[in-house]
Amino acid sequence: MTDTTGKINLLGLTLQEMEKFFESIGEKRFRAGQVMKWIHHYGVDNFEAMTNVGKALREKLERRAEIRGPEVVSEDISSDGTRKWVVRVASGSCVETVYIPQGKRGTLCVSSQAGCALDCSFCSTGKQGFNSNLTAAEVIGQVWIANKSFGSVPATVDRAITNVVMMGMGEPLLNFDNVIAAMHLMMDDFGYGISKRRVTLSTSGVVPMIDELAKHIDVSLALSLHAPNDALRNQLVPINKKYPLKMLLESCRNYMSALGEKRVLTIEYTLLKDVNDKPEHAVEMIELLKDTPCKINLIPFNPFPHSGYERPSNNAIRRFQDLLHHAGFNVTVRTTRGEDIDAACGQLVGQVMDRTRRSERYIAVRELSAETEGAQVAAART
Ligand code: SAH
Ligand code: SF4
Repeated sequence: MTDTTGKINLLGLTLQEMEKFFESIGEKRFRAGQVMKWIHHYGVDNFEAMTNVGKALREKLERRAEIRGPEVVSEDISSDGTRKWVVRVASGSCVETVYIPQGKRGTLCVSSQAGCALDCSFCSTGKQGFNSNLTAAEVIGQVWIANKSFGSVPATVDRAITNVVMMGMGEPLLNFDNVIAAMHLMMDDFGYGISKRRVTLSTSGVVPMIDELAKHIDVSLALSLHAPNDALRNQLVPINKKYPLKMLLESCRNYMSALGEKRVLTIEYTLLKDVNDKPEHAVEMIELLKDTPCKINLIPFNPFPHSGYERPSNNAIRRFQDLLHHAGFNVTVRTTRGEDIDAACGQLVGQVMDRTRRSERYIAVRELSAETEGAQVAAART
């Protein structure tokens, strides 16, 4: 938590950690909540602004601590209101954060790692390989930056960010402690006060860590399934070879039942043309999920250069959705948002593209949207 300056970064500290910090410098614990409100509710990054903290304590904090988020490299706003930030983390890599407004809901999609080691075959983040884990300050820092760009409206007032999904770059369960700390801050009233139902962790299926998760937190869970059988899933999501479907679904059901309420697992399923989008895949999926209370979110594949995959036709998407729907599942198709700023799922590459490349890409993506126009696009982000 300290860096080369020797100062402790208060941005990523949970309430408990912040209380310990104040005790360790001979101050009262209640200061923790006070300072956290300044940081998270009001987006403050200096102690001078903390007017209800005495001058002596402010000076002490100045000597020992800092409030430092990741560096914002760019902020783009799409024609559909989607926003994307590219931020640079301490390792020197860039990661991306995306905000998706949808009616009264505003969902922030947060990254947990720079790159990802799990190498799912259709994911551009996976193609980069693993670079680094984000610190807790870098994970929560993405919420802090986004909240600041909306004017840092306190948690008790109508806010821009109502939901957070850990669906940006990286596998959150492989950066466990930092992601847990940041999710606690998302939910804490001294942090962002977001309900546990509206904070969602998405995983490709790191079974031992799903088992561990329930001991630490009660956020919503999304499972990236993408295939209805082990043979196909081994190809698309290689971690399946280590933790196959039966074991994985059992672990997810255990997590959900540990929540002890009527909450259901979200199943994410990226539809890849002629790979996992056929009626027989839907039929297999119905059988696979028959004992797992869930809602299903279909994600039409978002293309990126040299991926080797294509997005299915609208008819194929609709046919797949209908089969699941008729079997009694709650199924939505995720709307692709922010394409003009490369903000769609699986397009997050953490690089600042040069403008020429971006505009070429923009045209390609526009043509594709014209082709897919008319798709049934039920609201989909959890
Ligand atoms: N590592 C986690 C969370 C980040 S990925 C996970 O895999 O769940 C968020 C979601 O986007 C996952 O469901 C992932 O499979 C999906 N995704 C990745 N690449 C995609 C692409 N090119 N098109 C559509 N969805 C993609
Ligand atoms: Fe990693 Fe998720 Fe991409 Fe798989 S889909 S490579 S787990 S970020």
